[in-house]
Amino acid sequence: PTAAPLASLAREEQEAFLAAKREEYAALQAEGLTLDLTRGKPSSAQLDLSDALLHLPTTTKDRSGADVRNYGGLEGLTELREIFADLLGVEVAQVVCGGNSSLTMMHDTLVHLLLHGAPESPRPWKDEPVVKFVCPVPGYDRHFTMLADLGIEMVTVDMREDGPDAEAVAALVADDPSIKGMWIVPTYANPTGSVCSQEVAARLMSMPTAAPDFRVFWDNAYAFHHLTEEEAKSADALSLASASGHPDRPVMFASTSKITFAGAGVAVLATSVANKTWFLRHRAMASIGPDKINHLRHVEFFGSPDGVLEHMRRHREIIAPKFAAVDEALTTALGGLGIATWTRPTGGYFVNLDVLDGTATRVVRLAKEAGIALTPAGSAFPHGRDPHDRNIRLAPTFPGLAEVRTAMAGVATCVALAAAEQLVGAGPDQA
Ligand code: PMP
Repeated sequence: PTAAPLASLAREEQEAFLAAKREEYAALQAEGLTLDLTRGKPSSAQLDLSDALLHLPTTTKDRSGADVRNYGGLEGLTELREIFADLLGVEVAQVVCGGNSSLTMMHDTLVHLLLHGAPESPRPWKDEPVVKFVCPVPGYDRHFTMLADLGIEMVTVDMREDGPDAEAVAALVADDPSIKGMWIVPTYANPTGSVCSQEVAARLMSMPTAAPDFRVFWDNAYAFHHLTEEEAKSADALSLASASGHPDRPVMFASTSKITFAGAGVAVLATSVANKTWFLRHRAMASIGPDKINHLRHVEFFGSPDGVLEHMRRHREIIAPKFAAVDEALTTALGGLGIATWTRPTGGYFVNLDVLDGTATRVVRLAKEAGIALTPAGSAFPHGRDPHDRNIRLAPTFPGLAEVRTAMAGVATCVALAAAEQLVGAGPDQA
């Protein structure tokens, strides 16, 4: 932490630093580690918190008396929709509870828009010469790969501490009718941890758009995933949108993937009643009803909206120390050197690490060769291309605490080594 910025050191000092980091790296490689910080998965200790689900439900009937083992109930169990409506600050009538993946609901929504268009679309999106989405970066890689796979072009704007650069978004959408939508992870964004402010949300919901059927994919995957006692409240997208005359603009998504079981949770969609009717009309072509046994199981397990929040505090106890360990390792090894910045998120699943420009790919390779798997450099950008080659997403939830410490000390060594190589290599006598 007391170190001087590496770039400000005399040439010989930089070379000495490089030599020291090479030695440190050789020692790291000699440890023969196999550690993985690639994906935001819950650890098994977190999954254990929800094991009671494996013995639920205790009944086969929902509140209305319907047999949950049978077909039907496309919009999901009312009692579960009530819990999520309360948590997400929306009306029960606006909520659909679906299968185990919100990503699937996002994909379905996009496919319906492409094949059929929204109620107010001039034509199905597939019949437009080009369809584009605004993508805040860095962002969630699967959002970008989904768009690429469906042939939707991506235009980037910067993600900031209070959400996407709303003025940049507003300028893009104002006169380009081919821009049909945007992604946003409003709360504890993947990977920056940003929390979209009510002001930014209001701008996004009220801005004029050239496309009459513009959609905001409001992916609130981490709405309740607080890491501190200060629990951020998500911006109120649906109310803001209807107050500004665009009730059908936002489609909100959430799930219990990182609340109960990542592979066997419940996904949620919330949107205007008109959008919901449109969504279910198309959904009905593909399903006679969701897994209501799983819905009922979740209702019994949580009991109430407060039950969800209580449960999330138990997750926090397990994962907050891992995030603290990431910060501690980076601060100890890199503090003051001026070669990296990183987030100290107050929620969500990731730490966003920005290394010296032009060294992220090198850092990820060095880490790999020392047995530490990191998400590929650039993955938080469309087509995997980080224009500055500086962004690395760290996901510390899955490994144990001791492993996080070891892995992060190793990552810090790689960051410092790559920076020193770059600084020294760029010197005049190396030309
Ligand atoms: N959205 C975001 C922003 C995510 O980070 C993730 C999980 N990594 C998902 C969606 C996936 O959600 P689900 O499990 O509900 O499909």
